[in-house]
Amino acid sequence: MTNTDRRISLITGANKGIGFEVARQLGKAGHRILLGARDASRGNEAVKTLQAEGIDVRYIAVDLTDPASLTAAAADIEANEGHLDVLVNNAGISLQGDGLPGVADLAVVRQIFDTNFFGAVAVTQALLPLLKKSASGRIVNVSSGLGSITLNNDPAWEYAAVKLLGYNGSKAAMNMFTVLLAAELKEHGIKVNAANPGYTATDLNGHSGPQTIPEGAAETVRLALLPDDGPTGGFSATEGTDPW
Ligand code: NAP
Repeated sequence: MTNTDRRISLITGANKGIGFEVARQLGKAGHRILLGARDASRGNEAVKTLQAEGIDVRYIAVDLTDPASLTAAAADIEANEGHLDVLVNNAGISLQGDGLPGVADLAVVRQIFDTNFFGAVAVTQALLPLLKKSASGRIVNVSSGLGSITLNNDPAWEYAAVKLLGYNGSKAAMNMFTVLLAAELKEHGIKVNAANPGYTATDLNGHSGPQTIPEGAAETVRLALLPDDGPTGGFSATEGTDPW
């Protein structure tokens, strides 16, 4: 079966937080949603909530640190959808033990990079053949202002005190991935952009951010819905372009 009626979007880490809200908003925009989550019960619970809102959505197992789950997800989409239009690389973690470069626990730094950077790259590579079958593919990498090397180098920046080697470094690496992949995929009509959600109250930060989850999801949704004459290889927040 090939579903060609609606744009098909996969969001990783979509069982809660910003990813769940991105899934909801793309669903409300008429997309068929493949709700990626690493845990089946949490994923199916989120699917039920969105189905109750009238959204065309199903669960798909995606654990960024389990290559077999990525291969299986690609095979499932190939068999049941035929192609993929939008990939939102949203799943991400922040862990205790991360910290200043002189003292951060390297095992923790590696764990963060495994999900936030290598995981995002791995799922993108697994799904790229399906995205290349789209008439106008979109990849949105959910980055962070903390991934901006320019802002991290500014002592006057409001988050200058947040110097986390693993988290900030993984998002800076994701920004580089964005730029390189955008150039690689330009000829395929696939736009690749990095979104900075802004500091948003979610489980990731103990609900300490000033923004609501819909506010945190807004820029990612906008980039997922970019028209064919929209930009590629950019880094932006709702307020506008961010410095790399
Ligand atoms: P969240 O509520 O903690 O959600 C994170 C999601 O990622 C969860 O669904 C989680 O699944 C999933 N996840 C973690 N590891 C995974 C893995 N190995 N495979 C698949 N899924 C995995 O956090 P959030 O604030 O919504 O964060 C979403 C994205 O926004 C992250 O990339 C984060 O870095 C970025 N961001 C957030 C803020 C902010 O202020 N909140 C600011 C800038 C950027 P489980 O439920 O199974 O753990």
